[in-house]
Amino acid sequence: MCKPGKQVQRYDMRHFVGSIVFRTACGLAILFLLSIGVIAEVHAQAPTTIVTAIRQTSDKARSDVEIELSGPASPRLVLLRKPYRIALDLDGAVSAAKLPEPSDGLITGMRQGFAGGDRYRLLLTLSGAVKPRLEVRRDGERATVRLELPSANDAAFVWSDPGDVSRHAVPVAAPAVPRRFTVVIDAGHGGVDRGATGDGGTEEKAINLAFAMALRDALAGKPDVNTILTRSDDTFIPLNERSAIARRAHADLFISLHADSIRYKDLRGATVYTLSDRASDALSSEIAESENAADRFAGAEWDQDAPEIHDILVDLVRRETESLTERFAGHLVEDMKEAGVRLINNPKRSAGFRVLRAPDVPSVLLEIGYLSNKEEEKLLLSPDWQREFAGILAKAVVSSLRERGG
Ligand SMILES: [Zn+2]
Repeated sequence: MCKPGKQVQRYDMRHFVGSIVFRTACGLAILFLLSIGVIAEVHAQAPTTIVTAIRQTSDKARSDVEIELSGPASPRLVLLRKPYRIALDLDGAVSAAKLPEPSDGLITGMRQGFAGGDRYRLLLTLSGAVKPRLEVRRDGERATVRLELPSANDAAFVWSDPGDVSRHAVPVAAPAVPRRFTVVIDAGHGGVDRGATGDGGTEEKAINLAFAMALRDALAGKPDVNTILTRSDDTFIPLNERSAIARRAHADLFISLHADSIRYKDLRGATVYTLSDRASDALSSEIAESENAADRFAGAEWDQDAPEIHDILVDLVRRETESLTERFAGHLVEDMKEAGVRLINNPKRSAGFRVLRAPDVPSVLLEIGYLSNKEEEKLLLSPDWQREFAGILAKAVVSSLRERGG
């Protein structure tokens, strides 16, 4: 479930930012939430778990954190470096507890808040690496989560021992059924937005849709993967709505498929683009600019930019999403290379693609090829190539998601 040695230990956090909606019927919790400035939408359904107290003891060599709960407890840890941090997550929980003052020891900072949906998160910032150990003790309706953090070297800063928790007869988070992944396949452009046009008159929007369908079919036989298409016909969808579909579906992966035109007619081959503030090169910057211009077709009813999401822990999830995105992009390039797919030079590039902006869904934009190249146009139109390419892509998607684990 958790692989040691990886910076991001679990993937459960993709819903972290989400719509900040949580359930509480506890007046104390509401007051607490308002006091930390989280925008709360209060639902009638009560949370199953309330954090009633948080205690810590900390010195330079060791820290212990104890969390008192009423209700079930299935804690999970997420570890991050630079700086060293540990997030302790509890599903279906709200906090009515005050944070203890940070001491002079290993724990230098403590925050609590919501990690998307109704997931409570306690975030500890540490002055150095530790070897975490988690234990849950039950006493009737109450539980105590104990997190022991003895100082250790960097190699020990991994979370790979959920068995520690299960020994104490508390239901742990490990799902009884195998994890299912959701992949959102986005056929770029559509409707009034035709995208690029090849010399032979091929419209990019149709090519993208054909490949999206082929990828959906290639993934259809995988028992652990659900697919969602942002469009399955010739419809216009604004960029923000495309990523919003992925966010609403709590997708594990978002793949936007394109076959754009570029001014270098000789250039052909696939390219994997990820999001970055600064473009990796001039070509990526041009492509992002042209892609982002797709929203000129959007009417006034569509927001041009998603509202900034303010959350006390938003940077953390962004960083995790980036790291998962990078890993998938690298994986995809390697798999395409191995399968003999033609790639452009430096096939992993980045720029400010608006469609990739979901902070909590790993997202890539894949240029399958470029319609500006005549040979490529012919290839892109071939149903055989569409099927073959989709098969390679599906393999990369599945192995990357399974590697990520559940
Ligand atoms: Zn395009």
